[in-house]
Amino acid sequence: MGNSLNQLQDRIKYCFKNSRLLEMSLTHISHSKENKLPYNYERLEFLGDSIVNFLLVDLLYEKFSRLPLGKLAMIKAYLISEQFLSRLAKKWDLPKFIKVGKNEEIKGRRESSSVHADVFEAVWAAIYIDSGRSIDFVKRLFRYHFEKDVTEAIKNGDFYTDFKTLLQEITQSLYREKPTYRLLKSEGPAHEQTFTVECRIKDFKTTAEGKTKKEAEQKAAKKMIEQHFKEIFEKKKF
Ligand code: MN
Repeated sequence: MGNSLNQLQDRIKYCFKNSRLLEMSLTHISHSKENKLPYNYERLEFLGDSIVNFLLVDLLYEKFSRLPLGKLAMIKAYLISEQFLSRLAKKWDLPKFIKVGKNEEIKGRRESSSVHADVFEAVWAAIYIDSGRSIDFVKRLFRYHFEKDVTEAIKNGDFYTDFKTLLQEITQSLYREKPTYRLLKSEGPAHEQTFTVECRIKDFKTTAEGKTKKEAEQKAAKKMIEQHFKEIFEKKKF
């Protein structure tokens, strides 16, 4: 453990005065139960959740506060999502350092993006506490590591995970019309059905399959954007 803790501290570029805090932030409850340890990351995550939200929103506000409020809310929701936090965690190779119990390891718990996000939050709480509760210090360290990732994700439009909403924004601004979705067919036994959906706007049509109607609609919308509205999406002039 000592060695791997050092490796992680090198990566984080922060040396803990109390390395127990770092250890705690990496310990899943299954590991603490198995080894009868009196700690796990849950309490640190409770605090870290708020710290990481603050760090992200602070950065978002500083760089992009001129965007419409609705879009800011959409970006915020993406930045604090499991998906994005897990992406930041992987930049530090954090999953490798997480302690999980043997059974949970087999079930693939280490691969879970919700665990990655929680541990990421817990680590930031640990840094915050260990550095004497200095939010300025934490802010600087966070920006050193992630400012570029965050601003680039925003500029790339990574926060558009809802393609139906995105397509609707595009077609509303171009044609003052919404796309329509139609279920073409559903096949297979009840527990593993495949749905085929068609998306239409003006003379454009795309179809896609999914395990749910909603999934098929999202895929058809995504296809529509890629095939017919890619340019306007990339310029984001809507
Ligand atoms: Mn969390």
